Amino acid sequence: MGALDLRGVAKSFGKTPVIKGVDLSVADGEFVVFVGPSGCGKSTLLRMIAGLEDVTTGTVFLDGQDVTNLAPAKRGIAMVFQTYALYPHLTVRDNMGLALKQAGVSRAEIARDVGRASAMLALDPYLDRRPVELSGGQRQRVAIGRAIVRTPRLFLFDEPLSNLDAALRVATRIEIARLHRELGATMIYVTHDQVEAMTLADRIVVLRAGEVEQVGRPMDLYNDPANTFVAGFIGSPR
Ligand code: ADP
Ligand code: MG
Repeated sequence: MGALDLRGVAKSFGKTPVIKGVDLSVADGEFVVFVGPSGCGKSTLLRMIAGLEDVTTGTVFLDGQDVTNLAPAKRGIAMVFQTYALYPHLTVRDNMGLALKQAGVSRAEIARDVGRASAMLALDPYLDRRPVELSGGQRQRVAIGRAIVRTPRLFLFDEPLSNLDAALRVATRIEIARLHRELGATMIYVTHDQVEAMTLADRIVVLRAGEVEQVGRPMDLYNDPANTFVAGFIGSPR
């Protein structure tokens, strides 16, 4: 089994099926990008992997372990959202260290881990600031920094760059690609953006109305989309 395995994972809200039986294996260290139209279930699928949403039927495995009913905090997953969800009253340092503090990690260890993460993201000059004193791009770097502090086994990103302007989107995208290389971490990344998908992904998963439409390497999907729907998202213009 891989770092993550989904077996027949499905989700209904009331009687409405939203995810209709997804099977997917993600290898250790792989960067997988989910694309698909608004409302197709990308966030719901990520939230089920994180444990923030119950699975209606099916099984979620992490490193071969069934975690379907495991609490989110015990999964070793970090999630970065579109909105940064930083605590406004805490400094950057304390935002980044909060989860460790809550887990009872010693102050010395927190300082070391926050220092390592802030160095990786060039956040050292901002450690004593509060979120309101940062730009949008800096806030999102803090949110990413908070995610890497705990060296999770799996990173989930839900459209993390869509609130940033174009130049910052590119810079932060490059940063995420570098983190992936340096940490050797497994990452799952949701985006609307074709360029993000093409440049970041080892494999792209195209979702449509709660189902996997096609999975493949970026250039394979680009050159050989299964249908016009896939072509509309990542296919070559023709
Ligand atoms: P995406 O992230 O691809 O835009 P979502 O996963 O947010 O899609 O939503 C998939 C579908 O599930 C949408 O139709 C959405 O309205 C519905 N949905 C999401 N969350 C809930 C909820 N808590 N209750 C009811 N319906 C929901
Ligand atoms: Mg979404």
